[in-house]
Amino acid sequence: MPTSPALPLIMVTNDDGIDSPGILALRDAMTAVGRTIVVAPERDNSAVSHALTMSRPLRIRRRNQDTYTLDGTPTDCVVIGLGKLLDARPDLLVSGINPGPNLGDDISYSGTVSAAIEGTMYGIPSVAFSLVGEPPYDYALAMRIAITLAETVLADPLPDNTLLNINIPAGKACAGMVITRQGRRLWENSIQETFDPWGRRHYWIGGGTPLRDHGEDTDVAAIHKGLVSITPIHLDLTNHSGLHLLRGTWDLDRMQDKVAPANRGHRDNT
Ligand SMILES: [Mg+2]
Repeated sequence: MPTSPALPLIMVTNDDGIDSPGILALRDAMTAVGRTIVVAPERDNSAVSHALTMSRPLRIRRRNQDTYTLDGTPTDCVVIGLGKLLDARPDLLVSGINPGPNLGDDISYSGTVSAAIEGTMYGIPSVAFSLVGEPPYDYALAMRIAITLAETVLADPLPDNTLLNINIPAGKACAGMVITRQGRRLWENSIQETFDPWGRRHYWIGGGTPLRDHGEDTDVAAIHKGLVSITPIHLDLTNHSGLHLLRGTWDLDRMQDKVAPANRGHRDNT
């Protein structure tokens, strides 16, 4: 438990909506760690990524003293929650528990992870939780993992600008935990072709077979081995080795000449 005499304040959100069993499990788990405030989307917002709603107003509804819903995205919930609903800066933000993994390339699409990205942008230690498996999901192990990780992050701060993406294997027992890097998980045949009752063609993205990165130290490999995957995710998406490579090899003056030759000593006064 944290050493502070005051209970830590924990903001709980998700992308599956306020009625998802996963967020109820996460909220219940966090009550063992601190005081919780839930701010979650009214409806399922899976795969909305880091979308911010700017084209319409957002409505808050209060379910009870410490639970709010928003007719927006997970990122909206973090922005409005931190800016308008919480009476103090939270010590921790948790997102999930998502029913289904967020591994490798899934992270780019994930509303669960994006809520934690938004929390990290505000400087709040943030953790995203996802549970691998099939319905009906058993959240008992994931709840114990969430409690342990929340206590650890509260006691031992994360590196700057870094969130944790946690993937928990299906099952009732924890075979082990491992710190991983983000792997690759592309999907083959994930576009389904369908026809409506009038014979018009439609496409439905989903399903298919994941093509895995077999790197032994990846999140994908950890889950394949039945281990809890803990991936530190950095907000800086810059490829730093790629940056040095491009700076050393690309001739930007030559490229500039092609774009605007008149700007480089050939002033045209006509
Ligand atoms: Mg989801």
